[in-house]
Amino acid sequence: MFRKCAVCGFTVARQYCHKNRYKEYICRTCQAAGVRFTWPARLRYWRRQTPAIIVLSLAAAILVALAIWALYAFVLGIEAAELHKIFS
Ligand SMILES: [Zn+2]
Repeated sequence: MFRKCAVCGFTVARQYCHKNRYKEYICRTCQAAGVRFTWPARLRYWRRQTPAIIVLSLAAAILVALAIWALYAFVLGIEAAELHKIFS
């Protein structure tokens, strides 16, 4: 099983290269030189991830807002009930 290094373009055996999170294969030589990814792959990866991150953070923000609103309504409800008890 051979893989082409994404950095230098050399074809190396699978056990002599590393597959990074961007699904690129980096050979041992390039790894030793400190290269762990190529920028095009990283940008491609983040462009794919960004919509999911936006949707998730938006959903989290909505949930937090709902929780605060529910708590606020709950506290107001208690206060209203107490006032009703006092003035009746
Ligand atoms: Zn390489």
